[in-house]
Amino acid sequence: MAINDKTFSKLRILADAAKYDASCASSGAPKRVAGPQGLGSTSNGICHAYTPDGRCVSLLKILLTNYCLFDCAYCVNRRSSNVRRARFGIDEVVALTIAFYKRNYIEGLFLSSGIIQSPDHTMEQMMLVAKRLRQDHGFAGYIHLKAIPEANPWLVEQAGLWADRLSINLELPSEQSLKELAPEKDARSITGTMAQVRERIGEAKAERRRFSPAGQSTQLIVGADAASDAAVLTTSAGLYERYGLKRVYYSAFSPIPEASAALPLRPPPLQRENRLYQADWLLRYYGFSADEITGGSMDGMLDLEVDPKLAWALKNRDRFPVDVNQAEREMLLRVPGLGKRAVDKIITARRHSRLRLDDLSRLTSGLKRALPFLIAADHSPARQIDRADLRERLVEAPRQLALF
Ligand code: SF4
Repeated sequence: MAINDKTFSKLRILADAAKYDASCASSGAPKRVAGPQGLGSTSNGICHAYTPDGRCVSLLKILLTNYCLFDCAYCVNRRSSNVRRARFGIDEVVALTIAFYKRNYIEGLFLSSGIIQSPDHTMEQMMLVAKRLRQDHGFAGYIHLKAIPEANPWLVEQAGLWADRLSINLELPSEQSLKELAPEKDARSITGTMAQVRERIGEAKAERRRFSPAGQSTQLIVGADAASDAAVLTTSAGLYERYGLKRVYYSAFSPIPEASAALPLRPPPLQRENRLYQADWLLRYYGFSADEITGGSMDGMLDLEVDPKLAWALKNRDRFPVDVNQAEREMLLRVPGLGKRAVDKIITARRHSRLRLDDLSRLTSGLKRALPFLIAADHSPARQIDRADLRERLVEAPRQLALF
C-alpha cells in the first residue's frame, strides 16, 4: 500500500494522540501460527516502549480516531479539547498495519480509540480491524486492543478472540477521582469488564482455546488527582488480586492545553513514576504488600531518593542483617541488592557449601549494595546496619536506577 498524503496526515495526528497511553508493552504473548499468507509470525510483539525486562519493542501504536464523545478532564482528546481531529476507517488501519509489517517497520499493532457514535460502535470497529488482520491477511503479529468498558460484553469477547492482549484503562485510582475528572466513566463498568475478561481468559485456558493469551492490563495516571502512592499501590494490588492483571502501567500526568482548573499545573516528578514501577515490581515478585511498601510514610508517598526496597530495609533495620546461609527465601528477597535470580542461585549454591563473599560476588552484581544487610561465612556487618549515615551512603547517584 502506498501511503498517500491524506493517510500520512491522519497517521501523524492519530499516532501523536496515542502517545499518552503507556499500556503497550507486549511481552508474554505466545507465538501465533502464521496464516496462509504467513504474515507477522513473531515470538514477541512490538511497541514503541521498553518492556519490564529491558527489551526495546516497537509497534504501530495509533488511535482509530481522536474524536471522542467523552470529556475526561485529563485527556487531550476529550470532547471539549481544541485539537486537530482525524479518523481512520477499518480498512485503512488494516492496510497500514500490513504495509508497515511487510516493510519491517513494526511487528504488531496497538489500537485504541476515542468513543465515536457509541461505545458499541467503537468497540466493534476496533474488533473488526483485528478480525480482518487475522482472517483476511493471516496476520500472526501481536495485536493489543483497548477494550471499552461501556461496550456490549459480546463485543469485548469477540475482541479477545483476535487480540493477544486486551487492556481496560482504569486511569484514576479512586471512584471519587473518576467522578470528578471523568464523569462519563463508571468505575464499576471498568472493573466489571476486567472481571469478564478474566473469566473468559480462564475458560479459554482450561479449554485450550485462544482468548487474549497475553492477558489483560490497565493504566493508572499518576499526579492528575491528589491520590498518594499508597492509594495508587493499594488500587494496583487489588487489581492484580481480583482480576489477574498482567501489568498495571503508570503514566505520569502531563499538563494539557486549556486544561480544567481541577488539574495540577505541573506534572509530578518523573522519579515518582519510576518509584511506582519499582514498587509494583515488589508487589508482584517480591512478596511485599502495598502497606509494607508505603508504611511509615507520613504522606503515603514513596521516597524519591531511594528505591522502595531499600527504603523498606532502612525502616526495618531490626529485620537485618540476614544470614545468606540460613535465611528463608522470603527474607533473602527483601535484601537490597539481591534480585530474584540471585536469591535462587544462592539457595542452590548454599546446599553445597557455606557461602562466602567471594561466592556471593559470583552470584549477584548487587553485592556492594547488599553488604550492610547480610551475613556470610566470612562477613558480618557488625554495627553497619545501625549507622546513622547508612542511608546517605546508599543514596543512589542521580539518574541511576536501583538494582533489586
Ligand atoms: S474516553 Fe476519555 S480518556 Fe478516552 S479518549 Fe475519550 S476523553 Fe480521552
